[in-house]
Amino acid sequence: MSRAQPLLPNPDVFIFDMDGVLAEVTASYRETIVSTVRHFTGRSVTNETIQAFKNAGGWNNDWELSHRLIADLGHQVTYQAVVDAFNRIFLGDGSTPGLIDRESWIPKPGLLETLAETYPLGIFTGRLRYELDVTLARFVPDLRFHPTITADDVVRPKPAPDGLHTIQRLFPRKTIWYFGDTVDDARSARDASVPFFGVASPDSLRRDELVSRLHEYGALRVIANINEIGCLLKETEASVA
Ligand SMILES: [Mg+2]
Repeated sequence: MSRAQPLLPNPDVFIFDMDGVLAEVTASYRETIVSTVRHFTGRSVTNETIQAFKNAGGWNNDWELSHRLIADLGHQVTYQAVVDAFNRIFLGDGSTPGLIDRESWIPKPGLLETLAETYPLGIFTGRLRYELDVTLARFVPDLRFHPTITADDVVRPKPAPDGLHTIQRLFPRKTIWYFGDTVDDARSARDASVPFFGVASPDSLRRDELVSRLHEYGALRVIANINEIGCLLKETEASVA
């Protein structure tokens, strides 16, 4: 079934979500959720279960999601205990390395560097500042993103549009393209009236459901990988010509 493709507005600024867009996190954040739940319950949740929550929206915070999954398995633990265990597993504890080491960087070498010659690039993520800085310093120490909006910078996290409103104030009357991989990213963009582009990897679980939900929340296009950004730009050039 083909869907009517809306015309793309010419971009002035590119803003990226981090996890699932710039950083591959299946083996880091997603595995940390699984390990945290196992730590408290002795049971394993599947990645598919986690993706079902992500697709439903409202579960951008992995601490809250872990807490919920543990409760669903019949175990009552405090939220703070979940946060502490999650962070120990994710960041490591001095003797055991954290799962954050298993992240990989999705953009091909040169992709963002070339884009940055023409456009401002920024990040709007649900991560905390220190979690973002570790990954940027590791993979793109020489690339400047401005602004970087983290969970530390907003009163209301995604799906609220607050972070995008901050970015809009920095670039008045400019067209911002926001790239995200979850329903909460799409909702945030819709409520800020920012053009949104979904990213849904071909091997993501429940992909068809994700793609249709991203469209439902206003995604102008859904691409398989951020490395396809050049195709979107070609499309805007073709429509100008
Ligand atoms: Mg994400």
